[in-house]
Amino acid sequence: MTTFKDIGLNAKLLKAVTEEGYDTPTPIQAQAIPHLLDGRDLLGIAQTGTGKTAAFALPTLDLLIEEPGALRAKHTRVLVLAPTRELAGQIADSFRTYSKFMDCRVETVFGGVGIGRQIQALQKGVHVLVATPGRLLDLMNQGAVKLGEVEVLILDEADQMLDMGFIHDLKKILAKVPADRQTLLFSATMPKAIAELAGQYLDDPVKVSIAPESTTAERVDQGVYHVATSDKLDLLEAVLATPDMDRALVFSRTKHGAEKVVRKLMAKGFSAMAIHGNKSQPQRLKALEAFKDGRCKILIATDIAARGIDVDGISHVINFEMPNVPEQYVHRIGRTARAGRAGIAVSLVAEDELYYLRDVEKVTRQHIPLLPAPEGCEAIVRPEPSRDLRVPKPKGPAGRSGYGGGNRSQGRRPQRPASKKPHGRPGTKHRPARAKT
Ligand code: AMP
Repeated sequence: MTTFKDIGLNAKLLKAVTEEGYDTPTPIQAQAIPHLLDGRDLLGIAQTGTGKTAAFALPTLDLLIEEPGALRAKHTRVLVLAPTRELAGQIADSFRTYSKFMDCRVETVFGGVGIGRQIQALQKGVHVLVATPGRLLDLMNQGAVKLGEVEVLILDEADQMLDMGFIHDLKKILAKVPADRQTLLFSATMPKAIAELAGQYLDDPVKVSIAPESTTAERVDQGVYHVATSDKLDLLEAVLATPDMDRALVFSRTKHGAEKVVRKLMAKGFSAMAIHGNKSQPQRLKALEAFKDGRCKILIATDIAARGIDVDGISHVINFEMPNVPEQYVHRIGRTARAGRAGIAVSLVAEDELYYLRDVEKVTRQHIPLLPAPEGCEAIVRPEPSRDLRVPKPKGPAGRSGYGGGNRSQGRRPQRPASKKPHGRPGTKHRPARAKT
């Protein structure tokens, strides 16, 4: 079996991963890291939970060790773009963890908090900047950050960034990054827009695809309850009261819905908190911390807020409402069953969500079985509707367009600059030349 040592990482990084308790590289790490050490671009199809953060962070830090250099004011050597503040924060934490035995300045910038401290933090230059696209553009426009010396560019959860309408921001940012760079693009799914983005910005990338959607779904013990919308809160309460419930992430489709669930659960004595777009950044961090350290056992989240949440030991993912995009279901249930462990995913499906359930079953190529009613809920849990029943697609503003307002790839394909990186021979480390300092 491949070990981290076999992969050829620097001893300082080996020490850090050993301290983290990692014995062996995960499949994406084993497959991606050697190519990345070799200077290749990479297209990674992988979800959170596969170890993808270390897959890109470790070889990037290896570069910084191998090629040390003085930092220049306002510049960064590595730029990581992520769709949400939470994910950006977690990526930065991972970089800090893996770089603890080396000299590495890691900064995070995201919206929703004051910009002054971020401007100051970038003043002296950093090794690694993890940013959400909107705030990075603001900082670029203010002249607080310069991208002319970026050597490694990482786009994480690129499908999510496109779904959130970041395509134009991304293009503006990418236009300022040198052509002679190493580019890594990670995405949980591979819609056409991602293939186009990869075609535009990656140079002869190595492709690594881990845990196709259906296999992640297979690791999670899944079940459904058919229930009227008006009975969902009572059923949720009963599910949360089951003895094997340790830590639950409950998904609501709307911010308003998330708040309603929290209020009801708190009134019943559960320790529950919500995380969604209307919460301030300190409130979101507080909820996430309480959930991580176990003070709060139940976190109610909307899809965007929950994306990338990296909390170990989530025993249950509960779909209080079904997502209207089947891939989102797979993202949601991927929050449990992390790093090879088992997990339970329970979906509460009302009649008008039956279409979405069928859609999920089609995509994941499996039938999600009916669960036995929890004690006291026998009267509200309904029998499974006939499989022959034709279920019409619900009409509504959300439809199947995902998050709504998403701005998929539009417009012209920009030309990739002619400059080609030299690639190393197999077995040798060959990095793109560093920008002049
Ligand atoms: P990620 O997919 O990057 O969100 O990582 C998922 C989880 O796996 C994180 O909690 C990591 O700390 C953990 N992890 C990453 N690499 C390894 C490894 N080689 N062995 C054990 N755990 C790991």
